[in-house]
Amino acid sequence: MTPKRFLIFGAHPDDPDICFGGTAISLIRAGHLVKFVSLTNGCCGHQSMSCEALARRRYEETQAAKKTIALAEYQVLLENNDCELEPTLENRRKVIRIIRDFQPDLVLCHRLCDYHADHRAAGQLVQDAAYLTQVPLFCPDAPITPKNPVFGCVYDTFQDPRPFRVDAAVPIDDVLEEKCRLMDCQVSQFYEWLPYDMGMPLPDPAQMTWNEKQAFLNEHWGNFYQVTSDTMRQVLAESYGETGRHAQYAECFELSPYGRKVTVQEFRDLLKP
Ligand SMILES: [Zn+2]
Repeated sequence: MTPKRFLIFGAHPDDPDICFGGTAISLIRAGHLVKFVSLTNGCCGHQSMSCEALARRRYEETQAAKKTIALAEYQVLLENNDCELEPTLENRRKVIRIIRDFQPDLVLCHRLCDYHADHRAAGQLVQDAAYLTQVPLFCPDAPITPKNPVFGCVYDTFQDPRPFRVDAAVPIDDVLEEKCRLMDCQVSQFYEWLPYDMGMPLPDPAQMTWNEKQAFLNEHWGNFYQVTSDTMRQVLAESYGETGRHAQYAECFELSPYGRKVTVQEFRDLLKP
């Protein structure tokens, strides 16, 4: 079997984990290669740390995440500050070089409609790469890949201008605990900044049992990976039969029309271990 290669871009350290972590674990277990990229250093996501200390801490969290699930790499573009990502020519070149260097079968990122300016910029950069990655005279220092990757988007709940289209869904019930271990690496986010940002009482992970931590993570961020609609259930059943039909947790993906042209069925098959 030739291992398949998956490249997941997020705006921040923790975005690939929450949107693709479970699928990544299943794929890696089956012998495939998964690389995560954060396009910013995440230096603004905290209520009390300095930018410099936070960027360092979040980089360490990504490397713990890499180790936890045996990612091929968790790359962080440390030179790009959080909340300042722009779809510049320089960043376009960086994204193209990362894609050409890793030679993925599938590239995923955020959609263009998203709450955070960095997510929108990341989505724009990766969408722009979907065609340009095959233009040899653009960034000639990095040779083009033998075939264009398939491109797609990770799940979100935004409705405007249109809701997310569930083209593929991957059940993750059997790897949910491992996904929680992955999220558990991003302590500065899931136990500190995000609860603070959401106006919740701050938990104390040092005093929590592993079961309590899993319950906490799934309760507050499960909306990113819970089966919540008939469409999701339908897509899961079509792809995974009874396992899919009864899944409670799944990660969903939308196929982009701008990369290599594949059918929805081929897109679903690509995501299967
Ligand atoms: Zn983010």
